[in-house]
Amino acid sequence: GFHMGRDLPVVVDVPTADDMQRLGRRLARLLRKGDVIVASGDLGAGKTTLTQGIGAGLDVEGPVISPTFVLSRVHPARGDGPALVHVDAYRLGGSLELADIDLDASLADSVTLIEWGHGLAEWLADDRLEIDIVRGVDSDQRTVYLTGFGPRWAGALDALRETR
Ligand code: ADP
Ligand code: MG
Repeated sequence: GFHMGRDLPVVVDVPTADDMQRLGRRLARLLRKGDVIVASGDLGAGKTTLTQGIGAGLDVEGPVISPTFVLSRVHPARGDGPALVHVDAYRLGGSLELADIDLDASLADSVTLIEWGHGLAEWLADDRLEIDIVRGVDSDQRTVYLTGFGPRWAGALDALRETR
């Protein structure tokens, strides 16, 4: 059809690591059980830093740290909200499918965030939030592009378009 289920990306300038955590906390307010987020960007881009802010915003058990030596880590919710399932697929290349992730937590009760290299997220889930983090050349500055795919995300990011 005319509309392919993809809104225009929300583009956010993120000067510091603290600002990246703040963006994660703002994003967390929009998240629901069952959501799938794919965070892409080079090593050191800030995927884990963003995830820390999401974890704080969701009020899950921490600490949220890079799950480099395990594929995934489950952070239970302290309250009734979603758990956070944090997956690091950065080193796996492009061969991951959600069904391959063996988890203790139910994805339906969780927000699942997958740290990723670049591209090939489309088979993970039709409804998904893709976040691409691009580093500044010579500064701490990052530019974050958030794009929602599928009915779940239609218009869902509008609150982030407003300034903090
Ligand atoms: P990734 O998970 O993408 O490999 P991390 O979040 O682990 O990246 O690391 C990002 C590093 O860059 C952290 O040490 C963080 O403090 C630092 N940093 C500096 N400026 C920023 C920024 N604007 N946004 C995010 N991280 C930043
Ligand atoms: Mg990381």
